[in-house]
Amino acid sequence: MDKLEGRHAPLRRSLWVVSLYLLAGGLWITFSDYVAQQWFPDPEALSRVQTYKGILFVLVTALVLFLALMRQFSSDRTLLSLHHHQREEIRNLNQFRESVIERANVWINVFDPMGRVVLWNKAAEEISGYRREEVLGSDQIWPWLYPDEHERTRIRARAEEILRDDGEVVGYETRITTRGGKRRLISWNSRSLQNDEGEIVGTIAIGQDITDISEAQTSIRQRERQLSTLMDNLPGMAYRCRYDEHWTMVFVSSGCRELTGYEPDELMNNKRVSFAELIADDDDESNLRAVESAIGNAEPYSLEYAIVRKDGQRIWVWERGRAVEDNGDLVLEGIILDISDRKALEDELSELATRDPLTGLFNRREMTRLLEEEIVRANRYGRALSLLWIDFDHFKDINDDYGHAAGDSVLKSTSKLLADSVRSVDVIGRFGGEEFVIVLPEMDCFEARETAERLRNLISQTPQPLGDGKSVRLTISIGVSVFPDNGADFRTLCAAADKAMYRAKSSGRNRVVVAPLPEEAHNS
Ligand code: GH3
Ligand code: MG
Ligand code: MG
Repeated sequence: MDKLEGRHAPLRRSLWVVSLYLLAGGLWITFSDYVAQQWFPDPEALSRVQTYKGILFVLVTALVLFLALMRQFSSDRTLLSLHHHQREEIRNLNQFRESVIERANVWINVFDPMGRVVLWNKAAEEISGYRREEVLGSDQIWPWLYPDEHERTRIRARAEEILRDDGEVVGYETRITTRGGKRRLISWNSRSLQNDEGEIVGTIAIGQDITDISEAQTSIRQRERQLSTLMDNLPGMAYRCRYDEHWTMVFVSSGCRELTGYEPDELMNNKRVSFAELIADDDDESNLRAVESAIGNAEPYSLEYAIVRKDGQRIWVWERGRAVEDNGDLVLEGIILDISDRKALEDELSELATRDPLTGLFNRREMTRLLEEEIVRANRYGRALSLLWIDFDHFKDINDDYGHAAGDSVLKSTSKLLADSVRSVDVIGRFGGEEFVIVLPEMDCFEARETAERLRNLISQTPQPLGDGKSVRLTISIGVSVFPDNGADFRTLCAAADKAMYRAKSSGRNRVVVAPLPEEAHNS
């Protein structure tokens, strides 16, 4: 309706103006003629007035016409320049659109409803290897991109579906064959195109070459699989944990089950138990300090500690890990292995290294170490410390009379008797042969002499088994020295006790001799 009205408006307006003109003209002629006849009765004057009147009419009409035309022409000029400007803009816009499409780094092409190429951008040329001139206006591109007929039919059917249903696909992947014979994986976003009248005039397809991304993803997936296989077969537990007081595990490998007895799920994010709770001596902060200093020095850390498994069993573990940055947070990554077997072996070895194999008492080396420790302690706290040096009397005779094995048997049982007859804080060891040393912490000279007497008495009254059912009586001689009176270090203290023991021997055996104080020694 509006359109129709718009089309007829100029005609109507023109008719209006002409009617108005005719009316005004008619009125003016009639009215002015009548007035002139009234005012100028003289026919000659009247004729002159008529002429002037005509000239005036023509002048006024010309002026009106002039003004109207002026207005029309100037509005036409404005319209024309506007029109020109708009045309320019549309052209620019088209150029811009074309250059965007052309320069886009994604493959853009348009097909008409027959599947013929209408638009083919630079990226399409680069990815496919086919130039615009080769493909524009024909549907030859289909067998080129998809030489396999079966595959081609399937993909074209999908494209026709989009055309028919005015539809759209997102992320539809096809594998094209390039001009050079290579296969590339393309992810397509495609939709149908309509003109102003709403008719479908083709399809636009935007393709992204995802060959490299997809290959990278495949290799990442493969690496992940290898890594998890590796982790699952690791003799222990791989972990990733937060650097916090709970050692909150973000990830643990399936080895967690065998190591701790907990399912990985129970340990991760402290669901059932935190790893810190498993650590046996959790008041021991040395692990924490070791980790701290390793992080400070940007080095990996190694730790050894005991944990308590779910079943209550205490095991020793060895841990090696390092700190890594994860989105600005510090996390720890590493592995934890069960080293209980190794630890047991180590304990056994160190036992072997510190004990005398025949009697099970401390050996000379360990005894020396322990005595030095006790001297340091006694010195620090200003406490007394005594030393007994024991040698069996005429032991050679036992060997000679009953044999070496019988001698061994006597050595074993006597050591046991001695060890059982001292306090738990006392330290007893075999110094060699049939010489024994007992360290008596916090015992002064008087108490030490009493202890020595008690032991001497006990041995002399207790027959010792020879191993063949029989037994033998024997006696011991004991030298006593006291810290710090007879010596402030290990060597002098031992020498004083040894010397006192020899004095016991020389004064008849089966007796106790206390080392004299330095001034007594000087006097004697
Ligand atoms: P004394 O009263 O002077 O100490 O006389 P003794 O025979 O005990 O003499 P001494 O202490 O010098 O000799 C120690 C003897 O102890 C020598 C050796 O035959 C014996 N003996 C040392 N070690 C062992 C051992 O491991 N097994 C056995 N069966 N005998 C040992
Ligand atoms: Mg002896
Ligand atoms: Mg001896």
